[in-house]
Amino acid sequence: MTTNRIFNFSAGPAVLPLEVLEEARENLTSMPGVGMSILEISHRSKPFDEIIEGAEADIRQLAGIPEGYHVLFLQGGASLQFSMVPMNLLPTGGTADYVVTGAWSQKAVKEAKRVGAVKIAATTEADNFSRVPRQEELTLDPGSAYVHYTTNNTIFGTEFGYVPEVGGVPLVADTSSDMFSGPIDVSKFALIYAGAQKNLAPAGVTLVIVRDDLLKRTPSSIPTMLQYPVHVENKSLYNTPPVFTIYVMRLVLRWLLKQGGLPAIDAVNTRKADKLYAEIDRTGFYKAHAQPGSRSRMNVTFRLPSEALEKVFAKEATAAGLDGLKGHRSVGGMRASIYNAFPEPGVDALVNFMRAFEQRNG
Ligand SMILES: *Cc1c(COP(=O)(O)O)cnc(C)c1O
Repeated sequence: MTTNRIFNFSAGPAVLPLEVLEEARENLTSMPGVGMSILEISHRSKPFDEIIEGAEADIRQLAGIPEGYHVLFLQGGASLQFSMVPMNLLPTGGTADYVVTGAWSQKAVKEAKRVGAVKIAATTEADNFSRVPRQEELTLDPGSAYVHYTTNNTIFGTEFGYVPEVGGVPLVADTSSDMFSGPIDVSKFALIYAGAQKNLAPAGVTLVIVRDDLLKRTPSSIPTMLQYPVHVENKSLYNTPPVFTIYVMRLVLRWLLKQGGLPAIDAVNTRKADKLYAEIDRTGFYKAHAQPGSRSRMNVTFRLPSEALEKVFAKEATAAGLDGLKGHRSVGGMRASIYNAFPEPGVDALVNFMRAFEQRNG
């Protein structure tokens, strides 16, 4: 049943830990002590209370979240956060600073502009988003309502190696594709959001961590479902949450804790990414899209000498059990997404495949 799993390099929805899938399968028709499937129970039942409260407790433990922050499980994906953030936090007449490092930041800007005024604090578009800006390149307005940035650029394969210094202005981060890939100092942020389907769970839930003082800003005129304070007051149960997704997220969080938490997964992620970049840089046959210093540990993007060879590479890789390597059309080439749950033997298999491919075609 499990022996036929291939190596899944998909950018998202993405690979989940095998142990998690096996436990979900084991309990699918009847949860121990409940006698019903997780797919069938009320979101207001005691067993589900334990799951959602357990998930929150695990998140707080993993990230060491300080007092004064709320943990929310929302719907609408990270894409709805592009709207909810400005609708809740950008007052009439105010402006917000956005750091633009790829397609997802651009989409965040597009939605914020529907709500109010946006200033671009920095953009690396001129470099085809092959890097993130340095701190000294950020033009920040101290009067800004907040600063928004994308910690990891899933499509271009770049990642911030630092948390921007923004003075007293609230810092908002889209961490969809590198959430819990390593330790995160939540105290530096006012609001963090992450669509779960890259690194945390199956699709259907968005993790939001929001600092209490931000809740005062929400105008009561916006739709109820889009108000952070409503979800805080109702402990993410204002309406029916995605019960199954939150259940699987809980299993992933417990798996993470069992691995040794964020410092332990951080070391594994560094090792996996280092192996892949070392192979990419070995001869010059492969070329990384991301510049050194900005390279993502989660999404490794690279080109081959020609588009024709890239096509052959993708086809032969799939045949060899290495799936999902074709890059996003805006970058071209290949993208290996190697999130927390991606097994290290899969990285070794890709490195071996790359070396053999170069020998045949280099
Ligand atoms: C995938 C992704 C999104 C969009 O997430 P949805 O949940 O599909 O809305 C936003 N930001 C980043 C960085 C992503 O990787």
